[in-house]
Amino acid sequence: MRFVDSHCHLDRIDLEKEGMSFAAMMEKAKQNSVEHFLCVAISMDQFPEMVKKAQAYENVSFSCGVHPLHVDEDKQFTLDDLPKLASDDKVVAIGETGLDYYYSKDSIAAQQASFARHIEVGNELNKPIIVHTRDAREDTIAIMRENNAEKCRGVLHCFTESWEMAKQAMDQNFFISISGIVTFKNAVELQDVVRKMPLDRLLIETDSPYLAPVPFRGKQNQPAYVKHVAEFIAELKGVSLEKVAEQTTANFQDLFSHASV
Ligand SMILES: [Zn+2]
Ligand SMILES: [Zn+2]
Repeated sequence: MRFVDSHCHLDRIDLEKEGMSFAAMMEKAKQNSVEHFLCVAISMDQFPEMVKKAQAYENVSFSCGVHPLHVDEDKQFTLDDLPKLASDDKVVAIGETGLDYYYSKDSIAAQQASFARHIEVGNELNKPIIVHTRDAREDTIAIMRENNAEKCRGVLHCFTESWEMAKQAMDQNFFISISGIVTFKNAVELQDVVRKMPLDRLLIETDSPYLAPVPFRGKQNQPAYVKHVAEFIAELKGVSLEKVAEQTTANFQDLFSHASV
């Protein structure tokens, strides 16, 4: 049995706090059957450092892009540099991009322009996009449609929205990625969405260092814990853990075909 952590920020985990080296964190993940990691960028300025931290590991792939809450922060690069940076063989996806109206309403216009540009680059390079979406259901789906996101495909990561939105995304060939939030007691609507979701559209993630699943809720998250997300989904859907592991890994390989899993 093997798992893929389809979304983590390996460069943002406070290892000192865990009293753990980077190698020990990766070993712990391995012992929990986590065999591949997609390390996700939140800005282009931080991208080179992020790659440096984990590039020695063959089982780590990377994305490149600008998180919606970090638009207009890059100093060293602009979005014009995205195609070049994202052309690197180790980069298997574009993002994370998307819209977050929950934390930032001031930057809506900049977020929308950046999101559209990421989809264009995804289509140019034939690499899928990683979409962060919060409190922006209609605009997210509309911008995906207008920019032909169904061509490069992608994933709505750390999904916490409605079944309606999940269906609209799946209609555009998108996958839905579930984080540790699903294990929270109050995540009743999300649990219902996961019950309905076809297994062949699902990915699993930790979004480390954020959103640790139960029983680690409130602590710093790490890739080893993706297994707890998978276990919870298996129970919700009444299927075996092996089935969830096998199908979500196959889904990852299907979507992120540039990754060597
Ligand atoms: Zn995100
Ligand atoms: Zn993230």
